[in-house]
Amino acid sequence: MPIARLKHWAVLNACFISLLFSTFVQAEWLKHEFDVMGTRASVELWADAKVQNKKLFEAIEKEMRRIESVMSPYIEISELSNMNRLGANKSMVISVEMYTVVQKALYFSEITDGAFDISFASVGFLYDYRKQQQPSEQVLQESLPKVDYKSIQLAHVLEQEESVEKYTIQFSREGMSLDLGGIAKGYAVDRGIEILKEAGVESALVSAGGDTRIIGSRGKDKASGQTIPWVIGIKHPREKEAQALRLPLTDTALSTSGDYERFFIDGKNRVHHIIRPSTGKSAKGIVSATVIGEKSMHCDALSTSVFVLGVEDGIQLINTIEGYDAIIIDNNGKVHYSLGLAPQ
Ligand code: AMP
Ligand code: MG
Repeated sequence: MPIARLKHWAVLNACFISLLFSTFVQAEWLKHEFDVMGTRASVELWADAKVQNKKLFEAIEKEMRRIESVMSPYIEISELSNMNRLGANKSMVISVEMYTVVQKALYFSEITDGAFDISFASVGFLYDYRKQQQPSEQVLQESLPKVDYKSIQLAHVLEQEESVEKYTIQFSREGMSLDLGGIAKGYAVDRGIEILKEAGVESALVSAGGDTRIIGSRGKDKASGQTIPWVIGIKHPREKEAQALRLPLTDTALSTSGDYERFFIDGKNRVHHIIRPSTGKSAKGIVSATVIGEKSMHCDALSTSVFVLGVEDGIQLINTIEGYDAIIIDNNGKVHYSLGLAPQ
């Protein structure tokens, strides 16, 4: 149980053993990296004789690229882009996959009281972090009503005559835009893990940017027979190549959302990519939010959610979700833990 291991703060110990061991066995771990969904993805697996690693690497890369082609707002012909051209009160048939991901996103909107809202994009598109552009107050206020997850309606209908199931989406406001940047990478990581599990892989890691999921452990210590955990670093929010924390983990997912990923500085203000839906502006108070739990898609959406909610509400939310924990670094550099991880 990774959480339990963390809870007892055997962290340094485990890290040390793991580092020693990983240098020892490294030759048998294979890694495949590629760029997808605007980030670097990585697949690592134990090259066992029964595992066709090359085929698996290809299958995962292909699947992640397929998900990008469906869910990217930057690809004009993606399903998401088609949805974003939909006028008010017009229904559009969507894939069951899109339906499932949007439905999950709406679930996270409900439990976070709108802190997680994929319609943030209705104002999100007004920002260009590379060009250091942000909307004027007036333009922002004009667009803000379009940020409203309650105006997204999904329906699942059974067409009696054709005997086929249809999944549809409809917006009750004009000009709404959706963006799945806070959930799709986690979904893609989960799909990668499913491919590995179906192939019988028992030890592996899949990551895409700040979203990681692990199957099994990094191996076993031959002498003691003890399981060696993976050691996953949480980036230091202000020192580029440094890590703020290192966590020994097995069989779990972990996502980190940070204000250092896409941003520019405007005077004293850091304008970054995680938007508080109620204001249409960058969320303040937290610099890094990490969520640990079973599914990568959940961790992904929850890390973005916690970032928007702030330390107190974020921790409170995570404490109500069984099997999930959070580590937050606030803007004073203080580290906060949810109940399952709190040092005793
Ligand atoms: P993450 O990469 O998980 O840290 O999430 C950040 C990404 O989520 C951003 O780049 C946006 O695409 C998206 N996003 C930003 N703000 C929100 C929000 N309030 N709700 C849902 N998604 C968001
Ligand atoms: Mg996230």
